[in-house]
Amino acid sequence: VDDKNRVQINRGFRVQFNSALGPYKGGLRFHPSVMLGTIKFLGFEQTFKNALTGMPIGGGKGGSDFDPKGRSENEIMRFCQSFMTELGRHIGEHTDVPAGDIGVGQRELGYMFGQYKRMMNRYESGVLTGKGLTWGGSRVRTEATGYGAVYFVECMLRTRNQNFDGKRVIVSGAGNVAIYTMQKVASLGGRIIACSDSEGYIVEESGIDLELLKEVKERRRGRVSDYAKLRGASVVFKPKGRVWDVPAEIAMPSATQNELTGQDARTLVKNGVIAVGEGANMPCTPDAVRIFLENKVLFGPGKAANAGGVATSALEMQQNASRDSWSFETTEKRLSEIMHGIHDRCAQTADEYGAPGNYVLGANIAGFMRVAEAVRALGVI
Ligand code: GLU
Repeated sequence: VDDKNRVQINRGFRVQFNSALGPYKGGLRFHPSVMLGTIKFLGFEQTFKNALTGMPIGGGKGGSDFDPKGRSENEIMRFCQSFMTELGRHIGEHTDVPAGDIGVGQRELGYMFGQYKRMMNRYESGVLTGKGLTWGGSRVRTEATGYGAVYFVECMLRTRNQNFDGKRVIVSGAGNVAIYTMQKVASLGGRIIACSDSEGYIVEESGIDLELLKEVKERRRGRVSDYAKLRGASVVFKPKGRVWDVPAEIAMPSATQNELTGQDARTLVKNGVIAVGEGANMPCTPDAVRIFLENKVLFGPGKAANAGGVATSALEMQQNASRDSWSFETTEKRLSEIMHGIHDRCAQTADEYGAPGNYVLGANIAGFMRVAEAVRALGVI
């Protein structure tokens, strides 16, 4: 029911893809583009991503075509409550454990967790991940997808005796994944020269001021154009064109699916890109992936490179199950070990199957094998 007391109808989905390795696990996306096909492809990817982490989590995904943009705080709360009123009966800490994704962060998860608790009369912390620190969340979960993607790219770079230091980096998006990708890149000496949102992109040759960007995005819920206005002459805002036209050595697409096309990949290659890490789920089109592989660009597919988010969700589930709360250092160390493990598993599998350096093939086979072995062991087929 919106603020004018009108009933609004949205469609919600939860696709429970595979639970051979553990409870269904994967985020919820609120975006007007969401339809069943979106959630199915995301759930399919999630299953193999989760398997690659080596943690006991199956795969699923959910969401709704609800558009949070322009909605009041109360409208968001009521939508989250309505959504959970229907979803609640399908989930549980041993059954299916949703988290956030595009349009769903700590605020939305809070309203959903509150509704679940009201309905079930259970403080079942492990039913959702990505929770706030004061109500069962894990340290590092907010940073995890971005940090993890940077660790993954760091591992790929190391295979060619390279690192982030002094490199020009483009990170598309300006949401949670993008912001913490930028933060980690900057801490390793990389220079973030461009980022974007659905209204355009900004270029700042001297490097984007991350504290200001965080202030604009996280606290004011603003746009990258607001950042440009506040920052002044050192930054250019471009409402049209492609962020991938900016010459850079490393690209980390961290917004949404199909945001980097074959043409964009050609431009990046021409401009000397050496590594691409997918922070988002399937941001590169199949054409773009082919072009990167043909040109020997180090390419980290999302199901490997962005697995740090869901892996830290699994760490949150561990803390919830033992009613414990780990320090930032302990949790980040676990995340880093997991990302190194995923990288090495993909690289070794690629070697084994005669395609050294092909992380796409390595991730697909290694993820698939782990799911298939569990399915077989459980006697499902
Ligand atoms: N939405 C994130 C992903 O695509 C996180 C899912 C989770 O933590 O369950 O992997």
